[in-house]
Amino acid sequence: MPDLEKRPSIPVQVQRELWGRSAGRCEFRGCNECLYKDPVTQQPRNIAHIAHIISWKSTGPRGNPVDSPRLAKDISNLMLTCPIHNNLIDDLKYEEEYPVDRLRKMKKDHEDRILQLSGLGQEYSLRVVELVSKLQDQVPAIDPKDEMDALLPFYPMREKVCIDLCNTESIRDAKRIIDQRVSLHLDGDDQGKSYAVFIMAKIPYSCYLGYAFGDKRKVKTFQHFRDTDDWKWKNGGGHVGIITPETKKCSDVNLLVNLSGIIAKELIPSYPSYIIQAETPSVYFLQSEEQVVEFRMRYREVLDQIRNIHSEEVKIHLFVAAPNPITFEIGRSIIKNIDPTIILYDKTADDVRYKKIMVLHYRIRDGKKPEGQGVLDNEKDM
Ligand SMILES: [Zn+2]
Repeated sequence: MPDLEKRPSIPVQVQRELWGRSAGRCEFRGCNECLYKDPVTQQPRNIAHIAHIISWKSTGPRGNPVDSPRLAKDISNLMLTCPIHNNLIDDLKYEEEYPVDRLRKMKKDHEDRILQLSGLGQEYSLRVVELVSKLQDQVPAIDPKDEMDALLPFYPMREKVCIDLCNTESIRDAKRIIDQRVSLHLDGDDQGKSYAVFIMAKIPYSCYLGYAFGDKRKVKTFQHFRDTDDWKWKNGGGHVGIITPETKKCSDVNLLVNLSGIIAKELIPSYPSYIIQAETPSVYFLQSEEQVVEFRMRYREVLDQIRNIHSEEVKIHLFVAAPNPITFEIGRSIIKNIDPTIILYDKTADDVRYKKIMVLHYRIRDGKKPEGQGVLDNEKDM
């Protein structure tokens, strides 16, 4: 079949679909120019071109005698572009730099993104809650763009709740600030509101935020992935198991959570130890949300088991080596009217041993607080 002399006109129906698929923006990667108004004056003006991935001429860029006539009006071969990128795609000089696959990928990525974003409805809104504290003397920052990416296909509500503990000196102050923020910003929300929690903070703060949230609210948690430098959940990851000590009823037990590392037994009290442990503990252990769900089940199992064997009066001494979504769950999954007292430890600065940091939960019995309520005497600066 000979080349057509004149560029074939694209049927109106195909043009309309292309405008819809591209949302009226240039599909060339990184451009995204709005094509129905003048970029300078902002007046309505059609500046769109329709570029051919495989040229309509067999001698044009990426053209060939078979595909050029066949795909000349086919939407899969057409890109809506701004004048600049139309010229680029149409120029034989750049043919090698922009092969068919590359342009098809640009078109697909743009159209997929538009479809996904325009499909968002009101039920997809989440309220973002951020918790940050200094980590190794650094002030961490959470990029809002990364949050958006991690949330897709959900999107964040405009007002987010930022809990900044970077200038907080003591665990008492931290608890007070967390309690205040939760009651100020979250207690007034509709029941059924969903939250997205992003944490870059010390373990006790994260545990306590989970505790303040409680298990009634709908929450998705996120973690920062060091290797990919983003907050998007991955797939898979290993399982967690429970190790139970052989012991009779006693007044104190240890509970170790060994996910990102292993707590050395010589650094903690010598009570019988219940352990929730990753198959292979490492800082890369947590990859998927399913693992958080599995952890929650195992954690509840252990707490119930401890209560059954040792009664509600037992004190649980808690040691945690785990990433933030897990530490948040540790606080959140506590059932306030049945669980025993849980005392959280953290490593001392000198790394020599673990020290009591806070009472994460006090056993509540018949609405009456047992002796020793309040803040631990040695809840200290962290
Ligand atoms: Zn463009």
